[in-house]
Amino acid sequence: MSTQPCQLLIFGAAEIVSWDSQAPSAADSVVVVDGKIAELGQEADLRQRWSPLAEVDAAGGLVAPGFIDAHVHPVFAVGRAEEFDWRAQGMDYLEIAARGGGILSTVQHVRATDPEDLFDTVCTHLRRMRRHGTTSMEGKSGYGLSTQDELKSLQVLAQAGAAVGMEVFPTFLGAHMFPLEYRDNQEAYLDLLCNEMLPAVKEQGIARAADIFIEQGAFSVAQARRYCERAIELGFKLRIHADQFHQLGGVELAVELGAESVDHLEALSDAGLEAMAISGKTYAGFLPTAPHFLRQKENAPARKLIQAGVPYFLATDFNPGSSYTPSLPEAAHFGRIRLNMTAEEVLFGITLGAAGSLGLEQRKGHLRRGADADLVVLDLPDLFHFGYAFGENPLSQLICKGDVVPF
Ligand SMILES: [Zn+2]
Repeated sequence: MSTQPCQLLIFGAAEIVSWDSQAPSAADSVVVVDGKIAELGQEADLRQRWSPLAEVDAAGGLVAPGFIDAHVHPVFAVGRAEEFDWRAQGMDYLEIAARGGGILSTVQHVRATDPEDLFDTVCTHLRRMRRHGTTSMEGKSGYGLSTQDELKSLQVLAQAGAAVGMEVFPTFLGAHMFPLEYRDNQEAYLDLLCNEMLPAVKEQGIARAADIFIEQGAFSVAQARRYCERAIELGFKLRIHADQFHQLGGVELAVELGAESVDHLEALSDAGLEAMAISGKTYAGFLPTAPHFLRQKENAPARKLIQAGVPYFLATDFNPGSSYTPSLPEAAHFGRIRLNMTAEEVLFGITLGAAGSLGLEQRKGHLRRGADADLVVLDLPDLFHFGYAFGENPLSQLICKGDVVPF
């Protein structure tokens, strides 16, 4: 029988999670052609028909789609480790802000950092994410909070993604917080967001979505409505931070405006849950490492949302102040512990769920024929071990667009 050349053969998997109901159940191998998934099957059969240019021995591990982190704040210059001690001493969010900590301290550092240095730091963050199996990500600005510094952040993010070789889906988060100079003139900052920043970002084509933090001390629902309606008018998708600490009606607004996702939900109200269930379109973004990091007792009601048929993803929320982890496997562990999600649900949340929330489900997040050949090989005997261990990186091989990538 004649064979055809293929870019890569991955063989020897104990289990392949493909999210493809058509895939042969006994498949232990994957064929990649031109950066795309060509076929799943059994090694002996595939070798009769394909001659691979490269091979990866999965060595009895678990093969899955490359991880997609759908909620990340990677454009920061320095961490905020000192605040971690302040929190341990019992200081709350407001006291930390009064000592010069919080989001606005990160803003100060991003503004003071030149683009070349910021680029180096963001590349480091992206490499840390990749080391844990992340092959694509949604990345937010939001630590510039001026037209110039938000544009700088988004430009640096795009450059870092290209340099590291990670596909980045950028989101403008100029409405993360009111910058210090607008603390007492919030309407003027909203004017700036709607009349200058959103149009400038649109003109440069450097963000696909706009995001806003709806919370006490950040933006009100009325302010968010104005910002979001302007963003929609300009053609941005919406991804929204809401119900993290307080029920303000941000979830209901997100659903009403057809947002792609509404994230956090630790304080989700019954009305908000019902709105999400009825719509069935706006994804719930689960970020279980954030309440862990913030020593918050409340968790997003993931079981109720999943049972109500709400689409969902799971992400790291990687940022210096409230979730300092670049690791999706770690987020998955916290999803299993704090949100009572199953191994299958957390793996779905960081692959096909994440892809769906970004409108990428045709080509990412699964191993169906024609999908991007982004894959992870995990040193785990089966799916049930995913998110079981913590503090340990299960990644043993990383494949991006059919190429084996060192990590
Ligand atoms: Zn966030």
